Amino acid sequence: MQLIIQHLSKTYPNGVKALDDVSLTIPMGMYGLLGQNGAGKSTLMRTLATLQDADRGTAMLDDLDILNQKEAVRRVLGYLPQEFGVYPKVSATDLLDHFIVLKGITNGRERKELVEALLQRVNLYEHRKKAVSSYSGGMKQRFGIAQALIGNPKLIIVDEPTAGLDPGERNRFYNLLSEIGENVIVILSTHIVQDVMELCNNMAIIHQGRVLYSGSPMASVVELKGKIWEKSIAKSDLPTYQQQYNVISSKLVAGKPLVHIYSESTPGESTPGDLDPGEGFVSAQPDLEDVFFSTIQADTLVTR
Ligand code: ADP
Repeated sequence: MQLIIQHLSKTYPNGVKALDDVSLTIPMGMYGLLGQNGAGKSTLMRTLATLQDADRGTAMLDDLDILNQKEAVRRVLGYLPQEFGVYPKVSATDLLDHFIVLKGITNGRERKELVEALLQRVNLYEHRKKAVSSYSGGMKQRFGIAQALIGNPKLIIVDEPTAGLDPGERNRFYNLLSEIGENVIVILSTHIVQDVMELCNNMAIIHQGRVLYSGSPMASVVELKGKIWEKSIAKSDLPTYQQQYNVISSKLVAGKPLVHIYSESTPGESTPGDLDPGEGFVSAQPDLEDVFFSTIQADTLVTR
């Protein structure tokens, strides 16, 4: 099974081009869609979840035409939206049962068994009698996964699932997602690099509605080897460095900015057309954050 998206485009009535000729091949397993806020992730997710239409393009889940066979798609789809909406003051058991009925399972005994199995699976069984509205952010997201798993979906879409979770909740959520199984396609959209790093064997970087990279996170990191340099600098020097070098990120380490710059030349030996990192930079082990920021920055420089 694979999901093949070709030339998907969407412009909103206000003129915002949220998807610009998006083509992706998504295999089974966990797939990360990485992009900053406003990149177009939710638009893509909602389109694949049959909740809105594209202007152009196709999306095929094997033989299933996602954009035109919506009812059939919904039978094999599990969706955890970015905003789940307002939870009524009903227990997890009752709310999950309600979703199960909506999914077309009406047999009472079957429903009861499914409610219990799903709540066990997401580790909420002992909290099953509590109102979902009283759950913590992490518990709500786990409940969201339980409802997305109803009916053994083949395509599971989770939109920004870890935003707002504390590190402990995020870890529990990672563990849950990683247990979903390899025989389904799980697309996870996120602006958090760590989500993709920990969970996904394939990914795409999306920026301003366009796909800038698709492939394995590991391969993307390998491609950057030898091109990332770092230096700890004084805070007041940051603007100068940003002007002089191709600074792709800066984060505070013990109160001082540690800048990462992208350069294809080595310190002291300048290559024509490239920046000389100069004295004091040391070669840094690239990570997915470097990939993400350098990819987006290169695109911004081109389109500026
Ligand atoms: P992301 O999920 O990556 O944050 P979105 O798909 O929500 O991105 O948004 C992509 C772009 O489309 C943004 O510029 C956003 O403001 C715009 N957008 C999203 N939904 C609508 C809408 N219903 N009407 C107009 N513009 C929209």
